[in-house]
Amino acid sequence: MKGGKPLLEIRNVKKSFGGIRAVDGVSFEVNPGRIKAIIGPNGAGKTTLFNLISGLYPLDSGEIRFKGRRISGLKPHRIASMGIVRTFQNVRLFPEMTVLENVMVGAHRLGKSGFLASIFKLPGTVREERRIREIAMEMLEFVGLADQADLPAGELPLGRQRLVELARALAARPELLLLDEPAAGLNIKETEELGELIVRIRERGVTIALIDHDMSLVMDISDEVVALNEGRKIAEGTPEEIRSNPLVIKAYLGEEGL
Ligand code: ATP
Repeated sequence: MKGGKPLLEIRNVKKSFGGIRAVDGVSFEVNPGRIKAIIGPNGAGKTTLFNLISGLYPLDSGEIRFKGRRISGLKPHRIASMGIVRTFQNVRLFPEMTVLENVMVGAHRLGKSGFLASIFKLPGTVREERRIREIAMEMLEFVGLADQADLPAGELPLGRQRLVELARALAARPELLLLDEPAAGLNIKETEELGELIVRIRERGVTIALIDHDMSLVMDISDEVVALNEGRKIAEGTPEEIRSNPLVIKAYLGEEGL
């Protein structure tokens, strides 16, 4: 890391559901300007960790810090407003709304007046609305979907819907982007293009934490990888170190292998 402090610090975080220890004392850091992958077999605790970071679930114990400030215990909208934005495993777009409108929803985090105020065109929101539209268009251009802006989002194939989600997340101007299985359901070519796009997002200065089961994507684009199994961290290091780590290989035996 280049001298600075970690952007995100996960410290001995625990979360159980009934008797299941979904996250069982996990610690790691995400450094600014990096792509950090979080891997592990099904049920390892990856998505739960994202839910804890984004404030969807309260922690049982431990703490999470963002830019040195404790964020565990804050509400999801507060955490989002500090610059942590996530996508979900299943595409969550408004299918009837246009691609552009979906992306504008992301940019509304930046606006002063709320989304409802803009729908009803309350006074003072028109200029802001124009600005939000510009940001959304810029993000659609960035992901290569500007020419589809006016189509209903639900009409796009899955690969493109995922790009709309990414554009929406970027429109919220994140400092830290949490991507939960962005390549799920994509074919090889789409996955490669997604990988290139994620690298370009990092080049814009956005730090990325990425969960994915596609090992070639993870190994190609990540700077660092943390491996979880049954709620615990079993390894952390460069993609090369993780690929040859015996504990990681063991955790994946019987699954897809590395
Ligand atoms: P996958 O790769 O399959 O998405 P994961 O690593 O993301 O898996 P989690 O979804 O975090 O794993 O789940 C970790 C464990 O916690 C699992 O045993 C899961 O069943 C359990 N779990 C997660 N969320 C809940 C919940 N809301 N209520 C009860 N159990 C949960």
